[in-house]
Amino acid sequence: MRYKGSCHCGRIAFEVDGEINGAMACNCSMCSRKGSLLWFVPREKLHLLTPEEAASTYVFNKHVIRHRFCPTCGIHPYGEGVDPKGNHMAAINVRCLEGVDLAAIPVTNFDGRSS
Ligand SMILES: [Zn+2]
Repeated sequence: MRYKGSCHCGRIAFEVDGEINGAMACNCSMCSRKGSLLWFVPREKLHLLTPEEAASTYVFNKHVIRHRFCPTCGIHPYGEGVDPKGNHMAAINVRCLEGVDLAAIPVTNFDGRSS
């Protein structure tokens, strides 16, 4: 399945290949504020349709994840990082995907606040 995603204004647009088997809700200081539901995919499954530099980058804490967001409309469509095994991953905010039934996606709560 190929999903289309974007920020609100369209400055950031992308496609993602994969099956959404679930999403993660994290309670860390960042995720609790933005309310994103994250779907993790290998970074090569995320295909940007807009220039890489269209998205601004925010990092905090251990600087493990590069939170990418739109400097125009403020939406955070995805993040990028490297998992413990060294794989380059993308964390897609499924709320930014088109045609996704959010209520049908099993959500796992992650205690990012404590980790
Ligand atoms: Zn935007």
